[in-house]
Amino acid sequence: MGVQLRMQPWRKDPGSLGQASLWLRQALDAEPSGAPTPLQGSTRADVCIVGGGFTGLWTALRLRELSPALEITVVEAGLCGWGASGRNSGAVGHWWGRLPTLLRLLGREDALRVLDASVKVLEDIRSFIGMHGIECQLREETSVWSTTYPNQLGAWMPMFKAAEAAGVTPPHRLLTPEEMRELFGAAPYYSGVAEDGAMRVQPALLVRGLRRVAAAWGIRIHETSPVTLIASEPHVVRVETRHGCVRADQVLLAANAWMAHLKPFKPYIAVTSSDMVVTAPVPRLLDRPELRRRPGGVNSRTLLNYSGTTPDGRVYMGRGGGSIAWDNRIGAQFDADPRMCAQVEQDLRYLYPELREVPVASAWSGPIDRSTTLLPWFGALAEDARVHYAIGYSGHGMGATALGGRVLASQILQRTDEWTELAMLFMRARSGWFPPEPIRYLAAHVIRNATVRRDEALRMGQAPSRLDARLAALALTSLPTRGVARP
Ligand SMILES: Cc1cc2nc3c(=O)[nH]c(=O)nc-3n(C[C@H](O)[C@H](O)[C@H](O)COP(=O)(O)OP(=O)(O)OC[C@H]3O[C@@H](n4cnc5c(N)ncnc54)[C@H](O)[C@@H]3O)c2cc1C
Repeated sequence: MGVQLRMQPWRKDPGSLGQASLWLRQALDAEPSGAPTPLQGSTRADVCIVGGGFTGLWTALRLRELSPALEITVVEAGLCGWGASGRNSGAVGHWWGRLPTLLRLLGREDALRVLDASVKVLEDIRSFIGMHGIECQLREETSVWSTTYPNQLGAWMPMFKAAEAAGVTPPHRLLTPEEMRELFGAAPYYSGVAEDGAMRVQPALLVRGLRRVAAAWGIRIHETSPVTLIASEPHVVRVETRHGCVRADQVLLAANAWMAHLKPFKPYIAVTSSDMVVTAPVPRLLDRPELRRRPGGVNSRTLLNYSGTTPDGRVYMGRGGGSIAWDNRIGAQFDADPRMCAQVEQDLRYLYPELREVPVASAWSGPIDRSTTLLPWFGALAEDARVHYAIGYSGHGMGATALGGRVLASQILQRTDEWTELAMLFMRARSGWFPPEPIRYLAAHVIRNATVRRDEALRMGQAPSRLDARLAALALTSLPTRGVARP
């Protein structure tokens, strides 16, 4: 037994910022300049972490707290924050929206345990940010989960039903039509539920802040060092890069969607893009009465829009379910896809009609590791239990990666505690699989196109065709588990 995991080829110049998000550029501009340290030659570590996003850095930090003498090395292909962690929309959320799935897969008691952990970790993040003085524009805002088509059912309804059945109360309150008008004016928002005190950050500032703390704590960080191979040896696991190699007792795979092509993950993860646009700063416009109270949030589309404003007066809009990756291979369109970003810009003009004349200043894309259940898994590979992993955040990783950091640190240190118990619950919640290529790619396109047509019909206030409605209903499903080997 053992593993030979070949990572996807990385671009020739791993140090170039290329299509980096505006967030990452802002974060790097705020740092003292300094060249990254690529991995050169052969080195040894107790734990080697592949990937310097939130998963990798939170785990490194929690490991250091639990075991100060541990030699920890992080190997990152680009710069820490180059991945989804430095590109996302910064909504740090819990799993209340996943309650129906959790109840179905785990039963009431364990579902509520996972939900509770997803809520408590938000305080964990807040306190780490405060304790280490990480300037990441942390703010608490009202966030609204809305419908943006006439006669559309709110996607929050299953959550409310599940909560009622479980005897718990979600943190959302239903908005009256008057409140909707007050918040959204004449923009096409039809109904919604509000959550006060929702947490937001500038994500690249946070991930670079974690990097700063990790480096200060003696965690070795090698950036611009794409890992090419992870291979089992009798006494260590070998992590190879273009110009170096780390021999480690244990390895954490924290490369998110970039490792979804690997055999242990491919049946359970489908990679799609999430695409974003950000306007130029328009603080004076946002201060006008019709926009001053406009909250950020998400809508009820399957290809859901998320939006918000920044402290410097920009508006951002994103949309999930963009490009679909063939065989989970990530191409250049997962850094910036002009076609998808142009569609998101149309969404921006539709949902913020007041910004018709405001130019889009920046646009980018990022990969989503969408799991069969929309929940992540934290585990170790059956072929080599020294190789740990986290995958499947499904576009909700801001809080979950911090939870993952605690779970993975305990797992790597072979502790038995509340975090390893949680890991077992996540494992138990795994179910379903996606078909192999080419069926997966073709089916995903058929379903996605039907979803777009259905949404367009709804937007026009028309009834979608029955076929499109049926196909679109398959968008969030997977095949039932039956005799499929698990990693
Ligand atoms: C556009 C967008 C918007 C999103 N919005 C939100 C949101 O508002 N709220 C939320 O909760 N979640 C959101 N997400 C999801 C969230 O960003 C992710 O779930 C989270 O950042 C995952 O963190 P990670 O560390 O696992 O992955 P990443 O941050 O992607 O880190 C993986 C790292 O691995 C590196 N890597 C890849 N291959 C190699 C290799 N061969 N060798 C070494 N390193 C490698 C990458 O460069 C990357 O830095 C969004 C995602 C996107 C793309």
